[in-house]
Amino acid sequence: MAARASDAAEAAFLRLGIDDAAAQRLRSAQREVTVQLPIVGDDGQLRVLTGFRVQHSDVRGPFKGGLRFHPTVDLDDVRRLAELMTWKTALVDLPFGGAKGGVAVDPRTLSPRERELVARRYIEAIGPALGPRTDIPAPDMGTDATTMGHLLDAYSRIHGFEPRIVTGKPIELGGSLGRTVATGRGAVVALETTLDHLGRTLPAQGGDVTLAVQGFGNVGQNAALEAHVRGHRVVAVSDASGGWHDPDGLDIPVLERALADHADLADLTVPGARPIAPEDPLFVDADVVLPAALGRVVDAGNVDRVVAPLIVEGANEPLTEDACAVLEARGTTIVPDILANAGGVIVSYYEWVQGANLLTWDEAEVLARLDARIAAATRQVLRAAGEGGSLRDAAMDLAVRRVVRAMELRGTA
Ligand code: GLU
Repeated sequence: MAARASDAAEAAFLRLGIDDAAAQRLRSAQREVTVQLPIVGDDGQLRVLTGFRVQHSDVRGPFKGGLRFHPTVDLDDVRRLAELMTWKTALVDLPFGGAKGGVAVDPRTLSPRERELVARRYIEAIGPALGPRTDIPAPDMGTDATTMGHLLDAYSRIHGFEPRIVTGKPIELGGSLGRTVATGRGAVVALETTLDHLGRTLPAQGGDVTLAVQGFGNVGQNAALEAHVRGHRVVAVSDASGGWHDPDGLDIPVLERALADHADLADLTVPGARPIAPEDPLFVDADVVLPAALGRVVDAGNVDRVVAPLIVEGANEPLTEDACAVLEARGTTIVPDILANAGGVIVSYYEWVQGANLLTWDEAEVLARLDARIAAATRQVLRAAGEGGSLRDAAMDLAVRRVVRAMELRGTA
C-alpha cells in the first residue's frame, strides 16, 4: 500500500497544492526502529517487550517527541503520533522536527525497578538513533521525569554526561521549572485565547465558564487545576476508574490533594458530586470539554452525545476524523491537539535551550514565555481560520506550509 500521511495532513496537502514529491517525503517517516527489550522481572522470569521509535521529520531541527509506556502501543500508533509531533513543533515554531517512541507494556504492572530496566533497555537498543542534536525524547503517557532520569543515566554511561538527551527530566538533573504543568497550562491558555476571540467574558473579568475534563493524568490534572485557579467552573473530571460531576463546580485542589492517598478518582468521597463513568465528561452539559487521555475517545459512534460547543484537544488525537467532521458541520469549535497540547514540547524546548546555554530561568519566566507562545500561536490560527472557519484546518495548513518551506530551503540535490 502506498504511504499516506494522516487524513488531516493529506487534506492540507490538497488545499495548499503541495507538489507530490514534497508530500511524498512527509507521507512516511525518515526512520523507524523496532526493537526487542528483554527484561528479567522481579520474579526472576524473562519477559521480552517490544519498543519503537519513529522519526518522522527533522527538516526543521532535531527529531523531538515523547516516549510512552502503554499496553496498546504498536508501530502504527507511534507512526501517527510521530507525524503529529512534526506538525506540532512547526505550528508553535520550535526549531525541532517530530518523533515518537513507545514500549508496549502496562507500566502499572511493573515495579519501580522493572520500569527502570525498561528505560535502560530502551536506550541500549535505540540509543544509537538518539542524540542531543539528533533526537530528544520526553515524557508521554505512562512515563515521567523519573523515567527521563533513567534514560539520561543510561545514555550518559555510554556517551559521558549528556543531560540534553532528554527533556522533562528531574529539576536536579537539569530539568526546567514549569515543565510538569506545561501541557495542562498551555491547554487552558489556548482555551482562554479562543474564548476571548469568540467574545466570551473570561472568568477573570467576571464571566462564568464551565469545563469538563476527561482523563486525570498529568495533562488533565494540571489543566483542571489551572482552569480552577483562573476561575473556571470545572464541573466534571474522570480517570479510567470513573469520575465526578457537580454542576456547581468541583473543588479541584481538594480533589488533587485527596488523590495523593488514593490511586483512582473512583476511590474518593466527593461530597455533593455524582459518581460518573470514565467517558461521561465528554458528554456532560458544559461550555467546554477537554479530553486529556487516550486517543480516539470520540468517534462516529458516540459523537452525537457530545453537546459542548467548544472542545479543547488536551490529548493527542482524542477525536477521530469522522467525529471532527460531524462536530464542525454542527458548528462546534475544536481547538486542535497540535495547538492545545503543545505546551509540553514548548517547555521541553525551553529546557533544551537552558541546558545548551548552562543557565536556568525561574518558573515565572518559563511560564510567561509559555503563555506568550501558546497565545500567539492560537491567535495566529484564529486569524487564519477567519470567521467560523475550521481551526484544525487552519492549524494544519500553517504547520504544513512551514515544514514544506524548510524542505525547499534546505534543497534536494
Ligand atoms: N509527549 C509530549 C507531546 O506529545 C511532549 C513531547 C516533548 O516534550 O518532546 O507533545
